[in-house]
Amino acid sequence: MKKLSIRDLELSGKRVFIRADFNVPLANGKVEDDTRIRATLPTLKLAIDRGARLVLASHLGRPKGKPESKYSLAPVAERLKELLGKPVIFASDCVGDGPESRSKALKNGHVLLLENVRFHPEEEKNDEGFSRQLAGLCDGIYVDDAFGSAHRAHASVVGITKFVRQAAAGLLMEQELEYLGKALTNPERPFVAILGGAKVSDKIEVIQNLIKIADTILIGGAMAYTFFRARGFTTGKSLVEEDKTELALTLLGEAVERGSRIVLPIDHVLARSTEDGAQTQLTGVEGTPADWMGLDIGPKTIELFRKEISRARTIVWNGPLGMFEKPAFARGTMEIARAVADATAKGATSIVGGGDSVAAVEQAGLANKISHISTGGGASLEFLAGQKLPGVEALTPI
Ligand code: AMP
Repeated sequence: MKKLSIRDLELSGKRVFIRADFNVPLANGKVEDDTRIRATLPTLKLAIDRGARLVLASHLGRPKGKPESKYSLAPVAERLKELLGKPVIFASDCVGDGPESRSKALKNGHVLLLENVRFHPEEEKNDEGFSRQLAGLCDGIYVDDAFGSAHRAHASVVGITKFVRQAAAGLLMEQELEYLGKALTNPERPFVAILGGAKVSDKIEVIQNLIKIADTILIGGAMAYTFFRARGFTTGKSLVEEDKTELALTLLGEAVERGSRIVLPIDHVLARSTEDGAQTQLTGVEGTPADWMGLDIGPKTIELFRKEISRARTIVWNGPLGMFEKPAFARGTMEIARAVADATAKGATSIVGGGDSVAAVEQAGLANKISHISTGGGASLEFLAGQKLPGVEALTPI
């Protein structure tokens, strides 16, 4: 169902509560990577331009329900001030007298950032009283731009929406829902999904859901070894989830029934250890020797995957295809990043999600060649698994 958008709101002179995702890495009291702050700037600028009075909230890290200076949003206020080119008032708490009086003193276009909502245990408990207090800081208008938190039923994401008149999606949230939503409900075909990473168990629901929707699922990374073991191959020291081999067989069977193809690697790079300079060898996938492990897809697999990707009109990628943090095992992931960028240049819609795959695309210098980089790792996985996100469900339908 379509949800209310910030673009539909009357904002002039109103205090608007904006839930952003400012969960950024900090180092020495400074923001180390401001990607998430930048991602929400269009929403903030739209609200400022329309004369809203902005009350911003976010979580940062996992402070366990009490204040901890290393999780303070104060450095975010500093960075936001630079990015917006205007003052940002910082409140040292997110509820109580301080935030209340500060929010009431706001003028049109002013920006107030509240301290980390997770400094209160009530946030993660979705507590009603706390939600009401947060809502009291605005004039009945709530905007959610924190897609990365939409899978959490927390007070600043879900509870607060009960105590406002309008709960709308911010521009970033809208963009996430549009791209991921279209891929799942009405994708241009062929639809190719690329899944990698460490564990099958993290992505079972995603595979199960995508079997019903995607034409082809390319599987790489350590995840592939559980499938290899299920097929009776020897896997040496490769990462295998022994208790998931049955499930891997079931998934392969379900794919056949549903007419979706699961494509596994046909060659791989082996090493005895992950240490720099360790000897490597390139082999087929059927018989990994006892003391070797598979750490990257090989050139034949890269070629096979590249062919599938080049024919795709919709591409969803989550999870690296090898241990890409190590240069010796990064080639597969980098080449697939290149293939996805090339397909995008030819008109395919590409969506990359999950911290590691996003890092890989950035490492390859190709982030701006991807149609949509999803900012929410866990949230985008749950979305791709076909689950309803509580933070999205809570928005006002139109
Ligand atoms: P995930 O968080 O499940 O997406 O997993 C990402 C991690 O999987 C990265 O740190 C990769 O280094 C790791 N990974 C990918 N392929 C392999 C592999 N073949 N062996 C060991 N680790 C891998």
